[in-house]
Amino acid sequence: VNDEIERFFSVSLDALSIVGFDGTFHRVNPGFTRVLGYTSEDLRGVRSYDLIHPDDASQMRERIEQGKSGEAFHSVDVRIRAKSGEYRLLQWSSIPIVEDQILYAVGRDVTEERKARADLMTAKEGAEAASRAKSEFLANMSHEIRTPMNAVLGMSDLMLDTDLDRVQQEYASAINSAGSALLEILNDILDLSKIEAGKMELENAPFQLRDRLQSIMTVFSVRADEKGVELAFEVSPDMPDLLIGDHGRLRQVIMNLLGNAIKFTESGQIHTRIESARQDKDTVEVLVSVRDTGIGIPLDKQERIFEAFTQVDGSSTRQFGGTGLGLSISRQLVDLMHGSMGLESTEGVGSRFYFTVKMGIQHEEVSAAVDPGPDGSADPGAPAPVPAADSAPAAWTTGLHILLAEDNPLNQMVATSLLKKDGHTVEVADDGQQALEMSVDGAYDVILMDVQMPRLDGVSATVSIRERERQQGGHIPIIGVTAHAMAGDRERFLEAGMDAYTSKPVRRDALRVALGEAMAKSCKTSN
Ligand code: ADP
Repeated sequence: VNDEIERFFSVSLDALSIVGFDGTFHRVNPGFTRVLGYTSEDLRGVRSYDLIHPDDASQMRERIEQGKSGEAFHSVDVRIRAKSGEYRLLQWSSIPIVEDQILYAVGRDVTEERKARADLMTAKEGAEAASRAKSEFLANMSHEIRTPMNAVLGMSDLMLDTDLDRVQQEYASAINSAGSALLEILNDILDLSKIEAGKMELENAPFQLRDRLQSIMTVFSVRADEKGVELAFEVSPDMPDLLIGDHGRLRQVIMNLLGNAIKFTESGQIHTRIESARQDKDTVEVLVSVRDTGIGIPLDKQERIFEAFTQVDGSSTRQFGGTGLGLSISRQLVDLMHGSMGLESTEGVGSRFYFTVKMGIQHEEVSAAVDPGPDGSADPGAPAPVPAADSAPAAWTTGLHILLAEDNPLNQMVATSLLKKDGHTVEVADDGQQALEMSVDGAYDVILMDVQMPRLDGVSATVSIRERERQQGGHIPIIGVTAHAMAGDRERFLEAGMDAYTSKPVRRDALRVALGEAMAKSCKTSN
């Protein structure tokens, strides 16, 4: 038995030592020499205390004192000066034998491991900081881009409503559609960053499936006609019509697949089919497939196209535009809706993209409760706005006296013109402070409140107005107007006391919807 233990002693990778209570070394193993460099010779006359890092000495002394009364210790980190002079971090365990006045001590060198762990922590913190910086950058950038976009889209909208000759009309529409395309890309980038930051929030509201699909098809039929591609769609009869879920995001995914199908198909047919893959009393797994007769996708690229920024043809000479974000966003949205997305495709023959999402089933026929449409199209994921004007409560669409709080002169001009065109009267406050003062005597029907303003921002101004109303009574509807479309903003605005919000660039339809929503809501609160 002794021989066996002897063999373990000599073969151990850890530093094994027998040390007297007085600190002198009685025996060390080859592992000790390998880790710390000292041979038994070197250690003659050396006391173990002398090798301990000064900062660790007092705790080690304490342990050894405890050892003298028979107490063992486990996994205690202590730095030891090696023969080379550098300190190594060893993790020690030890058992004392009180009658013999000695300790059996095992030390494991964890210097590299701890360093790697610390490096990893630093790297992780660095990456987290970078990711936070990225999100902040995106939020700021979206603000910076959306503000001038507001002017580009708004002004060209207005211009298109004036008397233009044919060429001017053409130029103005080009500006308008280029602006819309730019906004779409911006929205994609924002969506992706929101999903990556775990900040994508889904709506859960009732909607009518067949109606929504019809409006999507209407949007695409023009483009399909232009290309001479046939567009067909069918919904299986067992598919319930009243669903609960995020119709805006569902639409976004379908529109992305349809957009791609049209883009990559020169002739033939695009067939969209919607069926119920599984169904119980309250939920349905909606299976959507979009089949095209287009160029198809080579097998080795089929998985990769779901990655962000990836396209089948990524070369600079490629024929088709696009950012490569659509499918990546779509797949992640589908994941968030508890489904999955896949494809079958043969090069030169065509592709079939399909996905499932889980939706709730709305039972009673309460059509009044059905979401009238995107909340003022504040939904930044809407790639091409389907006209929502039909769903705005008509009673509020004209004749209001509106206070517009907005610091940017271009935006003031756009919003004022849009509102005046709808038959409202408008007065402008240049910042939140002025809005607070101007609204003191209750002369306005509603306030349109920009969020970022100098002196007093829109959220603070709203809080102050609501505070004043708590003392003096009344409730003026307030609509937040924001270029920030990050998750959590909506809650922040509503919590501050806003009744609705709409995102920049301000579009006429969205504004109408928001106005309707705010007026309807404040009607309820004041009754
Ligand atoms: P984008 O269309 O903006 O480039 P997507 O993520 O939507 O980005 O698509 C990524 C790539 O997948 C496309 O660039 C294209 O190469 C390929 N792809 C997507 N849909 C189809 C399709 N229906 N037919 C052929 N190729 C497709």
